[in-house]
Amino acid sequence: MSSAAACIFCKIIKGEIPSFKLFESDKVFAFLDIGPLSRGHALVIPKFHGEKLTDIPDDHLLEILPVAKNIAKASGAVDFNILQNNGTIAHQVVNHVHFHMIPKPNEQEGLI
Ligand code: 5GP
Ligand code: ZN
Repeated sequence: MSSAAACIFCKIIKGEIPSFKLFESDKVFAFLDIGPLSRGHALVIPKFHGEKLTDIPDDHLLEILPVAKNIAKASGAVDFNILQNNGTIAHQVVNHVHFHMIPKPNEQEGLI
């Protein structure tokens, strides 16, 4: 497993790398994606460092979907995707579990 010390998302949780924070609790952190696929593209992550979903204890995952749901509601998005990639072949780039919440803009709004 990748190390927490070198992990950019662990550094974001600790405030060592700046982020636009949307939510924080004892187990979950959420912030805007630096390379958004649409306006409001957010990342929801467990504070527990693990590379893949299978590395994260259940109790650390329990809050994730309610937070993603609330951020989706707060974004005002009517349609949206929740995505979660595991491993290089599955397009995971950052090796700390993260759930994307990607609003789907309507045609008038455009992408960004
Ligand atoms: P993945 O392909 O691993 O599922 O997605 C990683 C996501 O993390 C990408 O959408 C990328 O834009 C985002 N990301 C990478 N580095 C940073 C960063 O330093 N800050 C923020 N806010 N997002 C990041
Ligand atoms: Zn990490």
